[in-house]
Amino acid sequence: MAAPEIPKEQWAQVVEAKGGPVVYKKIPVQTPGPDEVLVNVKYSGVCHTDLHAMMGDWPIAPKLPLVGGHEGAGVVVAKGSLVDDVQIGDHVGIKWLNGSCLACSFCMQADEPLCSHALLSGYTVDGSFQQYAIAKAAHVARIPKDVDLEAVSPVLCAGITVYKGLKESGARPGQWVAIVGAGGGLGSMAVQYAKAMGLHVIGIDSGEEKGESVKSLGATAYVDFTTSKDLVAEVKAATPDGLGPHAVLLLAVSEKPFQQATEYVRSRGTVICIGLPANAYLKAPVFDTVLRMITIKGSYVGNRQDTQEALDFFSRGLVKVPYKTVGLSKLQEVYDLMHQGKIVGRYVVDTSK
Ligand SMILES: [Zn+2]
Ligand SMILES: [Zn+2]
Repeated sequence: MAAPEIPKEQWAQVVEAKGGPVVYKKIPVQTPGPDEVLVNVKYSGVCHTDLHAMMGDWPIAPKLPLVGGHEGAGVVVAKGSLVDDVQIGDHVGIKWLNGSCLACSFCMQADEPLCSHALLSGYTVDGSFQQYAIAKAAHVARIPKDVDLEAVSPVLCAGITVYKGLKESGARPGQWVAIVGAGGGLGSMAVQYAKAMGLHVIGIDSGEEKGESVKSLGATAYVDFTTSKDLVAEVKAATPDGLGPHAVLLLAVSEKPFQQATEYVRSRGTVICIGLPANAYLKAPVFDTVLRMITIKGSYVGNRQDTQEALDFFSRGLVKVPYKTVGLSKLQEVYDLMHQGKIVGRYVVDTSK
């Protein structure tokens, strides 16, 4: 295969100061290091984390200036001298975990998201809101050639994250899981992964529009927290024996649902925290947590194996991502909608526009 032509300059969305906005401008194309690949990003999903990165409201400060984005799907156009298992022309994904040391005790046990040397796309290194992005070859997601790069891009963070959370919950086929924030970008995928894994789903979110969407994706029950008179009772009542779901997946971006989940999870059940409301705390009654043997866990993205499994569910047609595509040049408008909480499903940016 002839080497693809790589331009010297490219379009990118750059955060130049904490709080934004993003600036759409031309920046130089970088050259990959020995263990890296250069990816011609075709599409990139937009994640809530990207908004936090621009606002700088998380405890760890992102780099500045910053090119955000960590759901980039594209084609390898150049590779470093040490890269053997990824070829030019391969379809790959740039995910949140851009790279890790591969040698620490976490990396050795496939817990690479916990690596203290981890490089984070669109946070500590430039991400996928540009036409040509760099990632460590060991960590790029391998995307089969027959998979649509536009449709698959949101799987690269949202899909992997919710799939991993469901694995961490330990919920088994036939059991019940409550998904809080089921109508959002993460939630709509979580509902489908859960269903594909043989779980019954109770979706929790606000409004009728989200309720329709959640049910159409396969949830057995929907609880609207804005109209429910007793959320805890309603969630428990949605399970056939009234004892509540075996697991709760917290994808919400506000604090309150994090305080409620232990009240309706079944005894012996597991609460999985995934959403990251800024400055939020978890609170649970010790008495209940002990006597009802409740497990509360965090779950953070996924490792390379989780990535390939999450992609496999997608490529078998078990997970469809509702998304809207806009040009990369319109990224700020997507952030504005996100800020107002007006997003149903997911936004994808097309880097050619
Ligand atoms: Zn993300
Ligand atoms: Zn490591």
